[in-house]
Amino acid sequence: MNQTQIYSFTDGLGIEGDSAAASEGGGLPHNTTLDHTLDQHRPEEPTQRSVLVTGGSRGIGAAVAAQFVSSGHRVANLSRSGSCAAGAGTAIGCDVSDNESVQLAVKQAAADNGAVEVLVANAGVTDDKLMLRMDEHSFTNVLDTNLTGTYRLVKAVAGPMLRNRWGRIIFVSSVVAMSGSAGQANYAASKAGLIGLARSLAREFGPRGVTCNVIAPGFIDTDMTAALGDDRRSEVLDSIPLNRIGTVEDIAATIAFLTSDAGGYITGAVIPVDGGLGMGN
Ligand code: NAP
Repeated sequence: MNQTQIYSFTDGLGIEGDSAAASEGGGLPHNTTLDHTLDQHRPEEPTQRSVLVTGGSRGIGAAVAAQFVSSGHRVANLSRSGSCAAGAGTAIGCDVSDNESVQLAVKQAAADNGAVEVLVANAGVTDDKLMLRMDEHSFTNVLDTNLTGTYRLVKAVAGPMLRNRWGRIIFVSSVVAMSGSAGQANYAASKAGLIGLARSLAREFGPRGVTCNVIAPGFIDTDMTAALGDDRRSEVLDSIPLNRIGTVEDIAATIAFLTSDAGGYITGAVIPVDGGLGMGN
């Protein structure tokens, strides 16, 4: 049990009636000038969190998970394959398109690391096709993983965050959520949906100290983009002001900031990490 759990009270709904003032860094009440004096001289100890990252078997999720582990956090790393690299947390098999699988994985993560305090919903798939060739299965399948999967995860982890008056939720969207992308109507719709979901949750959860933000990566060097041909890659490169393809570490660093105590006053934001690719959208 962590400090935030010890200091919170719940009613029948589990989220009302918390008398402890919400405060960054654990929700502990501060009430004396002595606290203030000590705070000025004591170096800040980053709180070690229970973190859940989806889609961490490779690509962006793997780098995000590794970044959290290297900062001393306890990380549950979910993917269908249930595998991850050494130093990227504890791998748990989970298909986010299956609610029972999500429930079981979150339960396992909580048993291993304590109730989830930081959620990074990163798992995502593409199934690119022009609209006239996109059957309903292609459309709903992508939505089911990228958008409804994120809904399932939030439902599974939000209760303890709200009770403890501290939480960080990050959705990994995409630059195409704003710009659109020919051949990716399903994917762009799913990623745009994450923005509406996040902003609604930012309003709902904000009063309980839980932030919810969206990262919109541009073109990042992973298996997902390796599938594109060289011509398409150089075409994209030409439209990136910083003139380089993004790295998974670019995304991980931004997520590390947003989920830290330093990022605690940011919620409902859509943060582009795209080298300028999406400017103006
Ligand atoms: P990636 O290399 O294809 O990795 C996708 C990850 O998601 C894998 O770990 C995969 O693991 C997992 N996954 C897929 N379906 C899943 C499911 N149903 N349940 C659980 N895990 C699932 O992709 P990436 O490039 O790292 O992308 C990560 C996220 O960033 C995605 O949401 C993507 O849309 C977004 N993004 C990427 C880029 C880019 O340029 N790469 C740009 C914008 C946004 P398993 O196969 O083992 O399940």
